[in-house]
Amino acid sequence: MQAANSSDSSKEPPSGQPNSALKQFLSAGRRHWANVTDAEWNDWHWQLKHRISTVEQLRQYLPTLTPAELAGAKLANHKLALGITPYFFSLIDPENENCPIRRQVIPRIEETHTASWEMSDPCGEDSHSPVPGLVHRYPDRVLFLVTDRCASYCRYCTRSRLVSNASGYDFHPEFDKQIAYIASHPEIRDVLLSGGDPLLLSDEKLENLLSRLRAIPHVEFLRIGTRIPIFLPQRITPELCAMLRQFHPLFISVHTNHPRELTAEVRAALGRLADAGIPLGNQSVLLKHVNDDAEVMKALVQKLLMCRVKPYYIYQCDLIAGSAHLRAAVSKGLEIMEKLRGHTTGYAVPTYVIDAPGGGGKVPINPEYVLCRNAGRVLIRNFEGKIFEYPETSEGQPCGQPPRKISEPELV
Ligand code: SF4
Repeated sequence: MQAANSSDSSKEPPSGQPNSALKQFLSAGRRHWANVTDAEWNDWHWQLKHRISTVEQLRQYLPTLTPAELAGAKLANHKLALGITPYFFSLIDPENENCPIRRQVIPRIEETHTASWEMSDPCGEDSHSPVPGLVHRYPDRVLFLVTDRCASYCRYCTRSRLVSNASGYDFHPEFDKQIAYIASHPEIRDVLLSGGDPLLLSDEKLENLLSRLRAIPHVEFLRIGTRIPIFLPQRITPELCAMLRQFHPLFISVHTNHPRELTAEVRAALGRLADAGIPLGNQSVLLKHVNDDAEVMKALVQKLLMCRVKPYYIYQCDLIAGSAHLRAAVSKGLEIMEKLRGHTTGYAVPTYVIDAPGGGGKVPINPEYVLCRNAGRVLIRNFEGKIFEYPETSEGQPCGQPPRKISEPELV
């Protein structure tokens, strides 16, 4: 194990980019747990057993707790539990109240403020649930909720109504019923395991579940949504990877919001999953004072590619109750997309989406690149703001006059 926040420079690619400090793969170190043995620290069960989950622990390990955080922590277990692995806690900057890691997992009193437009189930999942723990909102795929537990709890969690069971939702998935529903619906070709975090299941339980799903002939494709590689990279053991690789095609979506979450430990864990042949994608949530900044987001997406993870989605923060203090404006998200598209590798550019409130599904949101369109031509703008004309065609023939060279003053 490396010293706290030491750089894994042996594998560091050279970079002269302005965001190069954010792009370093540092170890999380061990901060308060320097006396713990390597065997304990690298044991995912030890990490879970020693999570910071009480106000007293939080005060002990984070003496710089602000009044807003302290008040939030005292009330947290009535809404969404407080829980942070020692590994992830070691990434928090105790001197910075606005540390982007801290803002994601330390409760604040603002979580108890609910605006009139906020909801407990902003994606309308409960109204699309034919059996407990299964959401069938899109025609050919289902969301299979495996557990209500996570390694650490994100304060903006869209499923905070059920995750951690702090608010008494009483979540009881019934795998037999969930699997029977999928088996009796031949239109379901894609199953996404989520929760809570499916990788908190033991290898044996997860293998049993994946085997049963894989045995359904019309299930073509399996996916797991997890934040475990980020909160608890120790869980990504060679044994887990060997088990998962039996179930291809199996994709994994991880959830990373800030480049500092991509540590040396996380890069190694993601590498083990990639080596098992598992295609990896990342989902980020746009969060105020965490990643609502183009340079931060650019460093994140570029670093993800270095970890063999395709940036997949940036989500506009759902209208989950008590999340206003973390919600960035849509205009900020559009500004970030404008600064990514064309300015970095296309593979690094995720799709920015709003999950339409109430259950409308994901809607992609893009800066305007089509300036106007008619039967004869399409007028488009590129990432530099230059304008081009593309002819519409019918059977290969332009519908209008051949393209003209457009100069910008003509349009002002
Ligand atoms: S890991 Fe996912 S499900 Fe768990 S608290 Fe975070 S956002 Fe919610």
